[in-house]
Amino acid sequence: MPAPLEALRSTFGYNQFRGRQQDVIDRVMAGQHTLAVMPTGAGKSLTYQIPALCREGTGLVVSPLIALMHDQVRSATAAGIRAAALTSADDNRDETMDRFVRGDLDLLYVAPERASTEGFRRLVQRARLSLIAIDEAHCVSEWGHDFRPDYRTLRGFTEMLGDIPRLALTATADNHTRADILAQLHIPEEGLILAGFDRANLRYSITPRDGIGRQLAEVLAENKGSGVVYAPTRDATEKLAAQLASAGRATRAYHAGLDPQVRAANQKAFVSSEDMVMVATVAFGMGIDKPDVRFVAHAGLPKSIEAYYQETGRAGRDGDPATTHLFWGAEDFARARRRIETDVEESRRGGERQRLNAMAMLVEAPTCRRAILLRHFGEEPPERCGNCDNCLTPPSSFDASVVAQKLLSAAFRTEMRYGVTHLSDVLAGKETDKILAAGHHRLSVFGIADEEELRLVKPVARALLARDALRADDYGGLSFGPAARPILKGEEGLAIVLPPKRERRRKDRTTGQD
Ligand code: ADP
Ligand code: ZN
Repeated sequence: MPAPLEALRSTFGYNQFRGRQQDVIDRVMAGQHTLAVMPTGAGKSLTYQIPALCREGTGLVVSPLIALMHDQVRSATAAGIRAAALTSADDNRDETMDRFVRGDLDLLYVAPERASTEGFRRLVQRARLSLIAIDEAHCVSEWGHDFRPDYRTLRGFTEMLGDIPRLALTATADNHTRADILAQLHIPEEGLILAGFDRANLRYSITPRDGIGRQLAEVLAENKGSGVVYAPTRDATEKLAAQLASAGRATRAYHAGLDPQVRAANQKAFVSSEDMVMVATVAFGMGIDKPDVRFVAHAGLPKSIEAYYQETGRAGRDGDPATTHLFWGAEDFARARRRIETDVEESRRGGERQRLNAMAMLVEAPTCRRAILLRHFGEEPPERCGNCDNCLTPPSSFDASVVAQKLLSAAFRTEMRYGVTHLSDVLAGKETDKILAAGHHRLSVFGIADEEELRLVKPVARALLARDALRADDYGGLSFGPAARPILKGEEGLAIVLPPKRERRRKDRTTGQD
């Protein structure tokens, strides 16, 4: 049996391990159970292929993606590894089973539904296993975004295998999902290895939306290469594409509602171009191989930090500098929260809320974006990266607790059905028709905010909506969310961030220079 480093060089032709591959391989070689969380492209396959070559017996790989499995078998075989797959699509199953039992296979790929059959269990007992690798391991967790019931049965299967080292692999797993995988597959906590999430060449910027057409036009003006603009709906996609095209840049749209021929043509044009902008829904980008995307912009909030990481990660895959821009609004949070309450199964709501709260923390943070992302993935990054908006131009963050209390009181006193403009008018003490008609000029909150505070009402409302202290109905009417009372009572403060650029603009406007 070769040593791992020898196998890396002779079989794969690489000189050294990357990231934490070696740590994972060391554990498997020592017979320990492991969960490796590494992003796509980090090199997870080698972490089971090499131990499979270096240990006695066959490495069993459970993978849900049959098409991928055959790719893996092909490339492994090309590298001189004895590999086969056992799926309904393979007609040489008898031969494969024979080789497996004879010990003539380094790697055997199976789908989870096969691994859970009685027949397969009997087969495995006649063979010798070096390890069991469970790919896409987040599928075992109901908490994760891609639960597959077949994965549940793997628990019994791996229990049956006892001491055979288990290696669970995934590219996406938040804290909760990770804990779930460890528990389901009986992997000790110290067996968790994560790394390789940093995309140092990406510059992260996150800005409140404030005229999205103009904001995107600025991104386009500053970024000459090709880019992707993600829009939340098909409609928005087409509208933004038309708007950006009118500024003179080659622009196409991409969403599931387009004629397949148009879609394919647009995609093809984008892949071969060097400066085209694709305005698309998030379906665009999966499986598209274009390493020189120079920027990714989001016109609305991605649905989780994982999604944000994955979507921004489509920029700069060639390793050259690339930029990412997220534009968000309070209404994105309001809409997402309403969707959770109405469209999501009860048992999944907790997870979805938590994912959304993590997004709120990210967009509102005054600190390094990269550090927040990497910590979310379980790494321990430096405090500052020097390549995100907050590191490059530290925003001013200040205590807006008093304004938050005044705004929440105004919502409460007006029976929680008015929008932010009306509440702001009440706090300002304006005698508008609407206020006089409703008698709101007689409330104790009428006219209690000064000019300085009034300028903060909108950013404060945005912050309160993002963290679920305020909720908006379909007409923008604001009512209390669960996080309202502690802020109203002064038990919790509210710090808000004003992006430096916005402050500058506001000043420019008052001096008439904008
Ligand atoms: P993942 O499964 O994590 O998405 P892969 O296993 O497909 O990633 O590996 C991504 C690419 O990186 C492959 O082309 C692989 O051959 C290459 N690779 C993996 N490990 C190394 C290494 N130590 N040195 C150089 N290239 C590597
Ligand atoms: Zn930073």
